[in-house]
Amino acid sequence: MIEGLYNKEVVCPVCSQKFKVTKVKARACKVKSRDSDFCVHYEGINPIFYEAWVCENCGYANLADKFEEITPREAEILKSKLMPRWKKHSLGGERDVDTAVEAFKLVLISHDLRGAKASEFAKVCLRIAWMHRYKGDEEEETRFIRYALEHYKQAYEKEPFPADKLDENTCEYIIGELSFRVGEYSEAVKWFSRLIGSEEARKKPALIEAAREQYQLVREKLK
Ligand SMILES: [Zn+2]
Repeated sequence: MIEGLYNKEVVCPVCSQKFKVTKVKARACKVKSRDSDFCVHYEGINPIFYEAWVCENCGYANLADKFEEITPREAEILKSKLMPRWKKHSLGGERDVDTAVEAFKLVLISHDLRGAKASEFAKVCLRIAWMHRYKGDEEEETRFIRYALEHYKQAYEKEPFPADKLDENTCEYIIGELSFRVGEYSEAVKWFSRLIGSEEARKKPALIEAAREQYQLVREKLK
């Protein structure tokens, strides 16, 4: 195991088997830069690669902070529909960008089977888009940004805020930003304007400032 990583044993809430997940020590993470859609670039170890946990025994996968939060009914569905199809293998240990994509895509499969919320899908799709950005694969990046955008819009319509850790104004910002990135400029203007004009958002000056900057960039594109 390389410096900065360590293993932790967890019990799978679906199959009740123990397995090891790999975690990153906080001090091993050095931020190099941040993109306008919150994608962080790191020097050395990228902790986002390790955000998806996958049970090697049954294939259940979820983001680390949500791994234990599944209902007995969801566990039953996963046990009957996912486990028989799963070829046992471990995604523990050091990960590269491709292993990270595999782990996040397995989270999408579990999300799909248990009928996860749109906000949960959105978060994972956005991370897969970032993985493709690291790889320089623009086509796949855009494809997953579109999925993320669709799900963030659904979450905005249907879910009460905060949806997980996502508040309403941050969701507006992300929808504006992702619309901008896929070239839907008038949509982007609409969402950034909604955020800039919101009473509630005044409590988040950094977010308003970011929205103003992005709004200017979109306006340039629209000229
Ligand atoms: Zn399991």
